[in-house]
Amino acid sequence: EIDMLNVCAVEVEAEAGARVLPYAAGLDDALFEHDGQITKREVRALTLSALAPRHGELLWDIGAGSGSIGIEWMLADPSLRAIAIEAVPARAARIRSNAARFGVPGLSVTEGTAPAAMTGSPAPDAIFIGGGGSEDGVFDAAATALKPGGRLVANAVTTEMEAVLLAAHARRGGSLIRIDIARAAPVGQMTGWRPAMPVTQWSWVK
Ligand code: SAH
Repeated sequence: EIDMLNVCAVEVEAEAGARVLPYAAGLDDALFEHDGQITKREVRALTLSALAPRHGELLWDIGAGSGSIGIEWMLADPSLRAIAIEAVPARAARIRSNAARFGVPGLSVTEGTAPAAMTGSPAPDAIFIGGGGSEDGVFDAAATALKPGGRLVANAVTTEMEAVLLAAHARRGGSLIRIDIARAAPVGQMTGWRPAMPVTQWSWVK
């Protein structure tokens, strides 16, 4: 009976040209409205894995961009909650429309600049720093606000931000990984690997 319901839902959505979303994190970037500032799908999948959502938990997605991290966090389970903090008003508006399109209108959006915009929000179980990490006090405020046992995850593309993550690792421990993705792309009539910029990821459990 459950199978039949699923089959029917898939058929109805396919007929309407609607999307059937896979359960796994790392959805196609093209499913999100974005202006290029988006954590790419493979990196996003690894980021959600490090954020490790558990029943009923709250995420702060700092420098939320398109909102893709907070949205995938909320898609993992209806019990999950997220607050997206984004400094650029047009992006904050895009996060709201992406959240509505993905069926997670409960994603809370704070338009403002971290660390100031982080104060007053309920204490999170996990924090992702995707932007604003080079501002003074963002890491300290995040580490302080995080609940004991909570996860802090931050990604860096620039060497400046990487230096911040190396310093955080030296000071607090945790783990560092480097994510190197290459995509096959045409080279004349042939195919070659086109590397994406490497991403350094620091994860820390409080
Ligand atoms: N993870 C996002 C992409 C983040 S891009 C996604 O998948 O869509 C980094 C974002 O951080 C940008 O949108 C930028 O406007 C925002 N940002 C940079 N500094 C910030 C700060 N201090 N406070 C809040 N947002 C900030």
